[in-house]
Amino acid sequence: MKKALRIAVFIIVCLASVFLVSKLIRTLTVVDELTRLQTDHFIITYHGIYEREAQEVGKELEANYERIRTELKDAEHDIIHVFVYANQEAFNKATGLLHSVANGTSRGPLEFHFIWTNWFNSIFPDNPRKTAVHEFTHCVQLNILIKDAIQTLEYEDEESFNTAFEKKFKTDYPQWFWEALCTYEANELNSISVKYGMRNHLTLQELNASNQIYNVGYTLIEFLVHKWGKDKLPEFLRSYCNFEKVLGVSEEEFEQGWREYVNRNY
Ligand SMILES: [Zn+2]
Repeated sequence: MKKALRIAVFIIVCLASVFLVSKLIRTLTVVDELTRLQTDHFIITYHGIYEREAQEVGKELEANYERIRTELKDAEHDIIHVFVYANQEAFNKATGLLHSVANGTSRGPLEFHFIWTNWFNSIFPDNPRKTAVHEFTHCVQLNILIKDAIQTLEYEDEESFNTAFEKKFKTDYPQWFWEALCTYEANELNSISVKYGMRNHLTLQELNASNQIYNVGYTLIEFLVHKWGKDKLPEFLRSYCNFEKVLGVSEEEFEQGWREYVNRNY
């Protein structure tokens, strides 16, 4: 028994040493100057990660660029500025999101920020390539909504437009859809998380203010696409989620159908 304990302690010490040495090597060898990488549709600014990791971000974003914009019917989109951070502290400082545990945030249709998560900066790191696609999808949603709002809202100058749009967005655009669409387009799906998220029978209204949207969001859009087709997505988005007009059902009927769909498939 004593021998087994000694072996266990030895293995733990070895693993901890490998972890700490790897972390040290990474800290000493990543790009430590603010560096830019330009792809066809993105300018990626980074430091604290490897150049090849920034290239992976660019590759992943470009690979999804046309698909997502075509699916959501995003007519035109200027170049997008992407900022990648090595850890939560750097992200929070740069974005001003103090005490935040978020791993990404979009700033209008042409800018987003996110953390390159890995085993050295998170307890259970998620896939940072997916985080990038998730934040990009927020930019696409905003671009479409803003282009529509320019035609429909009343305003005198840029400042009054921004105020009017922000108010409309906050009041009328459901948070559940804002997040669910991103999890769907970034393929952020884990069936264990879906089951965990569904255990409390949350309504869409409740999901507007619940982190469970990140666990179940994918399935909401999957259900919509399964039942009404992908073509309804841009129309539903631009209607600010008008169930009756676009899908021909009430919000409650949609919720009921979604729960049954998840029960059957997960
Ligand atoms: Zn999001």
